[in-house]
Amino acid sequence: MPLIEWYLNATQLPVFDANTLSYINGLKPHRASHWDLQTNAMKFYKASLLEQLSHIQKNRCAYCGLSLERNLVDREHFVHKEQNGGYPEFMFITENLFAACAFCNRAIKGTTAVITNYNADYLACEFNLIHPYIDTPSQHLAFVVNSYGEAILAQSLTQLGHDTMLFFDLHSSIMTCRRAAYLLELKRKEELSVTDYAELKSVSHFKPD
Ligand SMILES: [Zn+2]
Repeated sequence: MPLIEWYLNATQLPVFDANTLSYINGLKPHRASHWDLQTNAMKFYKASLLEQLSHIQKNRCAYCGLSLERNLVDREHFVHKEQNGGYPEFMFITENLFAACAFCNRAIKGTTAVITNYNADYLACEFNLIHPYIDTPSQHLAFVVNSYGEAILAQSLTQLGHDTMLFFDLHSSIMTCRRAAYLLELKRKEELSVTDYAELKSVSHFKPD
């Protein structure tokens, strides 16, 4: 199945056991500093969250869709949690949490305000970027197939898609090249059979003259 969607269309949410949920609920009202609590329960929650998100997202960044392998991976709050302009009340809402690469999260998104219409009910908020869970990204953003048969050219279908594409730099030549490189990597990986891998291993170790 060729990759044709890059911006994440999240349809699954992380789930937590009753103890973890009661711990998180017991912290209310939530403050940004809760995220960095050094308790075992918080460490367990964050480890489980990242593991589940990576699995749900098939090890790809929520925004650029590139591989999270060999990358710094962040537990990303779509609506940021910091006290200055953030919404710590949404910090543990599972619909607000994604795994993102450090480039998208740190270099681009940071603590950008994304809410255009606040509602105490998270799912009723309106946003200025495509929400990977609430929106259907393919209604706003398309990836057009090039002459090599790769769907890597970003095209916006709506104003929201346009704003999101520009914000995450999805239309730039560098991001288009990175998508092409990722597809090539996937293709090569597929082609390397188990036998080839054993052969690679046998010839790739250090041999002194
Ligand atoms: Zn990314």
